[in-house]
Amino acid sequence: MTAASHSPQNAAAPLSADHDAAPWDVDGDKLKEECGIFGVIGAKEASGMVALGLHALQHRGQEAVGITSYDGQEFYSHRGQGHVAQVFNRAEDFAALPGAMASGHVRYSTTGGSGLRNVQPLFADLASGGFSIAHNGNISNAMTLKRDLVIKGSIFQSTSDTEVIIHLVATSRYPTLLDRFVDALRMVEGAYSLICMTPEGMIACRDPLGIRPLVMGRLGQTIVFASETVALDVIGADFVRQIEPGELVQVDHQGVVSSHRPFGSLPPRPCIFEHVYFSRPDSVLDGQSVYTSRKQIGIELAKEAPADADIVVPVPDSGVPAAIGYAQQSGIPFELGIIRSHYVGRTFIQPSDGARNADVKRKHNANRALVEGKRIVLIDDSIVRGTTSLKIVQMMRDAGAAEVHMRIASPPTDHSCFYGVDTPERNKLLAARMDLQAMADYIHADSLAFVSIEGLYRAVGEPGRKASCPQYCDACFTGEYPTRLTDLAERSDPAQLSLPVDRIAVDREPIA
Ligand code: AMP
Repeated sequence: MTAASHSPQNAAAPLSADHDAAPWDVDGDKLKEECGIFGVIGAKEASGMVALGLHALQHRGQEAVGITSYDGQEFYSHRGQGHVAQVFNRAEDFAALPGAMASGHVRYSTTGGSGLRNVQPLFADLASGGFSIAHNGNISNAMTLKRDLVIKGSIFQSTSDTEVIIHLVATSRYPTLLDRFVDALRMVEGAYSLICMTPEGMIACRDPLGIRPLVMGRLGQTIVFASETVALDVIGADFVRQIEPGELVQVDHQGVVSSHRPFGSLPPRPCIFEHVYFSRPDSVLDGQSVYTSRKQIGIELAKEAPADADIVVPVPDSGVPAAIGYAQQSGIPFELGIIRSHYVGRTFIQPSDGARNADVKRKHNANRALVEGKRIVLIDDSIVRGTTSLKIVQMMRDAGAAEVHMRIASPPTDHSCFYGVDTPERNKLLAARMDLQAMADYIHADSLAFVSIEGLYRAVGEPGRKASCPQYCDACFTGEYPTRLTDLAERSDPAQLSLPVDRIAVDREPIA
């Protein structure tokens, strides 16, 4: 591999020179990632298109970004920490990533795994030639597989769960790369949408349940793969179709596309939290506009949890579409009672609690002229640790709100995600620690309500949740994980699973 060493961030030995990452960590809070992936084959300047696509996926990860390209002879890579626009900001960046095929990755990881050696796409020289991989999701048996691989002699370069796939491919005994790849994935549990590159072309695939999204687009002769449709829009590509759960799509350098279904077919379980929060509202997931889903959730919420109030105020930006739906259904006027600074990133995407707390204040400000003396319905998409709600409710009270009724456009987040959406350990989730009244008291709201799981399913276009076989992965709300969680089971930590944790009593402080 030729590694482009044109940035101070990846100068010298770009694929192994990072020593700041924590060792492989068995702490459940540390291996989860949020990511976006994008790949292009058959383009004149593939790496430039990938950078544009990654820009549109920046909300899926803001900590690091990488692009790998292939020019028919060599693979090239440039990876760095920061936003796409920070890491790829010079014409030379793209000149050093030549070729008609390129793929990229934006990433956020929790504390511990943020070193450069974990920044994707990961790359290895296998017996069959170069192999690069960009992964969105999380492998729930990665530590168990890694332990076995290390015993057999594999030497890991990163602490990322994704590297396990590379070692499984490298050590598989099947004759062709495709067979080795499928063999590797058969051993993997959890969530994965992948874009891989080999000298023969590009491979895109989704895990058998299709937990994380992946779509295919076309721009003339160029084939594109992306986590979300919004990234196709940005480069002017047409949406072709989604990659089906369990499907593996191969594209060669002549543009010939072949589809494989090596895992049989299982009832799909795409992540419902993509509709609630994670995807951009201008994306389309499985045929449904994310904006429409969110607005519909607001409509369901207004039906299930009406409030006597003067104005509906969204927590920007995540609560806006649901607040529009709530206002429409309830007839209460929608008002921007909170103004958001657009120069601060997502509150949650800050590895430390301290940074997260400071960010909530820098990010939102009360629109006092609107709020003063009013009874407010405050709408946000979710409560995780409760940090945001606590601060925003207080902000409304400080600005003179007469009453604050908090309405949440998802059911209580009661369980951790092990499939690539960052949530903290279960004992840090407000809904796992408190009942509804205690949560309302904790955030100092006059009332608090969440949309029901049935309401959420209706909002995403389903008649309801099929209890015997739910149509989505909704484990963060129900604790029903659709795959085995081998690593967790090995740690035998029942508090992380669906077993009830002891709900703690909170001091009921009087509402200010
Ligand atoms: P918290 O302040 O911990 O209760 O987190 C809730 C806020 O973070 C909400 O305003 C959401 O918009 C946002 N949020 C929820 N889940 C996530 C996630 N997995 N990643 C990033 N942000 C999130």
